[in-house]
Amino acid sequence: MSDCIFCKIIAGEIPSATVYEDDACKAILDVNPAAKGHVIVLTKEHAEDVFHISDEALSNAICVAKKVAAALKKTYQCDGVNILQNNGEVAGQTVFHLHIHVIPRFKGDSISMHWKPGEMPSDLAETAEKIKANME
Ligand code: 5GP
Ligand code: ZN
Repeated sequence: MSDCIFCKIIAGEIPSATVYEDDACKAILDVNPAAKGHVIVLTKEHAEDVFHISDEALSNAICVAKKVAAALKKTYQCDGVNILQNNGEVAGQTVFHLHIHVIPRFKGDSISMHWKPGEMPSDLAETAEKIKANME
């Protein structure tokens, strides 16, 4: 994808601070980090989002995110780590090339990704059946 910033980073046309690379992905520091050590794992396969990525590339990327999380814990002795991946503008996606965020978390830090828990629905079983019918 000639106009994709992450494809350009993967191709080495745009510099990045790389923490890990293999045949299928590249893990780099985010330039606008939520916290020091915020890493994004980029799949080398260009895919807009989770709806388009191959299982193989996604499986590799999540395993790399796990390795990154372990490295962050070792490096910063963080209290926790968020591993997250946005799909669609409404979900916060700004770069349309699949990537997984790995963010070190510390007790009392000011990073916010909370939602207000809803009331317990009375139709959980019905909802589960609806979704189940569309599982492939
Ligand atoms: P999204 O909002 O799509 O889930 O995440 C995109 C992330 O990519 C953002 O956190 C943003 O700071 C990061 N980003 C955007 N452009 C660049 C870039 O050129 N280099 C690096 N290293 N990160 C970038
Ligand atoms: Zn791309």
